[in-house]
Formats: sequence, C-alpha cells, structure tokens
Amino acid sequence: MFTINLKSSEKNQLIDITDEIRELAQEQGRDKSACLIFVLHTTAAVTINENADPDVKSDLIMGLKKLIPNFKEFKHREGNSDAHIKSSLVGSSEIIPLKDGKLILGTWQGIFFAEFDGPRKRSVVVSFF
Ligand code: ZN
Repeated sequence: MFTINLKSSEKNQLIDITDEIRELAQEQGRDKSACLIFVLHTTAAVTINENADPDVKSDLIMGLKKLIPNFKEFKHREGNSDAHIKSSLVGSSEIIPLKDGKLILGTWQGIFFAEFDGPRKRSVVVSFF
C-alpha cells in the first residue's frame, strides 16, 4: 500500500493525479491486474474524467456547486455539509485495470483528486492487487 500526499489550494478543486498513479503502477504494479485508489477523507473524493480540456474540470466543479449549495437548513455544526454530500456523490474510490504495470485508461481519461472543503492537506492511498 502506498500513500500520495497532496495539498489543495481552493475550497473546491480537481487535482490531476494521473502521473503520480501511473509512476506508482510502473514501479509497483507490474505483476498485478488492478489499481485501487482510495481517499481517506469525508469531504474529498476521487474521480475519473477528461483531462484534455481544462474547461471540463471547471464545469464539473461549477455543476456540483450548483447541484449542492450549502443550504442554511443543514444541521452539521462544522458548516460543511455540502462538502460531505459532494464527497459521497463523487465517491471515495476508483479501480483501474492494469496491464504490465500500465494503467488501462481511455484516451481522454485522467484521475482527479476532488477537494470539496479546502484548502487542506490530504492523503490518497493506492493499492495494487
Ligand atoms: Zn464536517
């Protein structure tokens, strides 16, 4: 099991972690068939989406912000229920197939750490099996 440490700089942010995962897979996943990526937080997530046009990233963030506003009726005292909901919707894990240490991803697919309550220090666990 491996850990990637990140530092987000915005409240809502998608951070491309494809290169880090790709390097780890080449070093550690040569005889494995899949890669599990797991986020250790309740107000962040991991997702796979287009990493070619950066507008996809900003539209995804804007869409989620409009879908889940921070309603004043929320009761959670920390005041970040919108971030908790986004985390659950987007999800805390992804599994990517591997072949000879290479991630099997579509041409436009990248792996993004999704921050919903930044800026914070964050950790992502990666495991090969
Ligand atoms: Zn909270």
